[in-house]
Amino acid sequence: MDRNIVTRFAPSPTGYMHIGNLRTALYSFLIAKHQDGCFILRIEDTDRERLVEGAEDVIKSTLATTKLTYDEGPDVGGEHGPYVQSQRKEIYMEYAKKLVESGHAYYCFCTKERLEQLHEEDATGGYDRHCRNLSKEEVAENLAKGLPFVIRQKMPLEGRTTYTDAVFGEIGCDNVELQDQILMKADGYPTYNFCHVIDDYLMGVTHVVRGSEYLTSTPKYALLYDSFGWPRPIYVHLPLLMGKNADGSVSKLSKRHGAVSFQDLVADGYLPEAIINYIALLGWCPKGEDATTEFFSLEDLKKVFTIEAINKSPAVFDFDKLLWFNGEYIKKMDKDTYLSLAKEFVNFSVPSSIQLDKLLLLLQGRIGKLSEIAEKAAFFLALPDYDKSLFENKKNKVTPDLALAVLQEALPLLEQLTVFDNDSIYNALLQIAEKLSCKSGAVMWSLRIAVSGLAVTPGGATEIMEVIGKEETLRRIGVALAK
Ligand code: GLU
Repeated sequence: MDRNIVTRFAPSPTGYMHIGNLRTALYSFLIAKHQDGCFILRIEDTDRERLVEGAEDVIKSTLATTKLTYDEGPDVGGEHGPYVQSQRKEIYMEYAKKLVESGHAYYCFCTKERLEQLHEEDATGGYDRHCRNLSKEEVAENLAKGLPFVIRQKMPLEGRTTYTDAVFGEIGCDNVELQDQILMKADGYPTYNFCHVIDDYLMGVTHVVRGSEYLTSTPKYALLYDSFGWPRPIYVHLPLLMGKNADGSVSKLSKRHGAVSFQDLVADGYLPEAIINYIALLGWCPKGEDATTEFFSLEDLKKVFTIEAINKSPAVFDFDKLLWFNGEYIKKMDKDTYLSLAKEFVNFSVPSSIQLDKLLLLLQGRIGKLSEIAEKAAFFLALPDYDKSLFENKKNKVTPDLALAVLQEALPLLEQLTVFDNDSIYNALLQIAEKLSCKSGAVMWSLRIAVSGLAVTPGGATEIMEVIGKEETLRRIGVALAK
């Protein structure tokens, strides 16, 4: 790791880990790691009113689970710490004062009442720059009196500020449109607008990677860099994340589209690796020879991920696609890992006659997410009620009469078995086809309906029988015969 390229993930601990935030973390991580650079975690907690207890832990545990390891940050430290903004308060005040001295910021003593009055008169007008030209003496006097103050950025009143975003290209605005925004608040805490710039500079961040909601405020931040005489970083704003609405339209991804926090998705049985793979594709598209697959591990992504391949058009989060990805990941898991994870989703009681591991392995290739296990396993635990017409099957030439004959033959054969596993059951049942001169498909169909009560099942007749055991198999065949 070296510091030729430094990125950061700078979340505010205001709640759960939204999938959009996780994508920002991922892209930021990948941009650094593609060049063996440095990835920083910085906690932006200066908006004290919006703090949510435990949110910082959620951030850290999400990054740990997804293996987005940071080189510098809270807990791990680093030479540019502390990495929690509330612990850096003094630094910001010092830099704000430097800007006041150089004429790029000013003290504002306007009272809340005055600002409210202004807002009432013109809700969109913003601050009227009332304190922008206070004399040095007036300022000194007010400070000596202990009047509460904020520090505001002194925006240029003419000209234009532009920057080139690595994804969106040239972005700019006329300076007259810029408000004299607050840099330091009356509570002594900086605003996000100010402190993230100071930190990005002091922490040596070369690439600022974040959501496109900051695209249009970035000229203000660029001006802060200019005021200090610091070189601007490279800005990499990420495309909007949209969700699909019921009517087919799209809008900003939010809770009403479904589970949009990493934690909720994991609790619903999505695998972190599948989530990471899927969200990597939300705004980035592999190019050239890398474009032959959609499957990327984090290690693959480090190799192939480039800023040039980030898209600026909005990305649509598609739950069906994620489900598909997840199913593919579940299929590819090694058995033991799958079994131990799958068991966490066995929230129903399992009779001792059931071979749980075999049941879960039957489901491995047939679920999109682990929370589907309960629903898919239900028929193993209790035979659903079904109609005898289910036995009819054209393809295998099965009629209820043939099914009856098959089941009558099957019962004594199965009763005799001392070893009740898939192979023994299968071999025993083959005799029936010969005896009744029917297809083995007809035999298996009849038995599968009898032991499952379903037309479509994970696994075939013999596999299901092995899972539910001899006694239950015979009982279910009895039920079928009675029908
Ligand atoms: N704390 C900001 C957020 O969570 C960070 C924005 C940035 O990365 O600059 O949205």
